[in-house]
Amino acid sequence: MKSHPKFERTLVIIKPDGIQRTLIGEILKRYEQVGLKLVGIKMLIPTADLIEEHYTLDPEWRTVTGLKTIKSYKDKGLTPPHTDPLKITAIILKNLVKYMTKGPVIAMVWEGAHAVAIVRKVTGGTEPLTSPIGTIRGDYVIDSYSMSDTDSRAVRNLVHASGSVKEANDEIDHWFKKGELFDYRHISEAMLYDVDLDGILE
Ligand code: GDP
Ligand code: MG
Repeated sequence: MKSHPKFERTLVIIKPDGIQRTLIGEILKRYEQVGLKLVGIKMLIPTADLIEEHYTLDPEWRTVTGLKTIKSYKDKGLTPPHTDPLKITAIILKNLVKYMTKGPVIAMVWEGAHAVAIVRKVTGGTEPLTSPIGTIRGDYVIDSYSMSDTDSRAVRNLVHASGSVKEANDEIDHWFKKGELFDYRHISEAMLYDVDLDGILE
């Protein structure tokens, strides 16, 4: 792995609702315009196994997500559907598998300095209701946990984005083979990363 920070990579998936809402171009544009470089992209209809494995690559995910969900119920003064975090995650995971296998998705790898954090910033928080304006989830969708829980379905938040560098590396290996990713240089990288900025003046 190249060590300069400009080589950091992250995984983004445009979920079935992003494709159906005809937002592919808008979503790609956001990551492209911030200065990141697309180094892999493909369309596929995921299998249930691919999705279940994706969400459970981190052995802690079931517990952490269950506890986080219980906390968000309590913060709103609501009673969670279970006190056992693993029971809550089992429902979330079942709904996620159903949602993510309903149609084609686009899996992508974006590269650049702080790619993981920059992509999360551009994407916005998990729940569209509270994602800030200016982010993908804040600008293009109106879903909430309460609405998705009422209807027993996954929250429709248009994209998945890796949450940490470790998660990104694991997820990229899960979705892409080595030959599907490309090492190349953008002309615009000179402006983002070059130290001396030679070559502008005639
Ligand atoms: P992300 O990295 O922003 O997608 O969020 P997480 O990794 O924490 O969660 C993965 C997925 O689990 C989300 O996209 C949601 O579909 C679901 N999820 C996470 N937290 C909650 C929650 O508190 N309530 C509900 N209903 N779903 C949740
Ligand atoms: Mg996550």
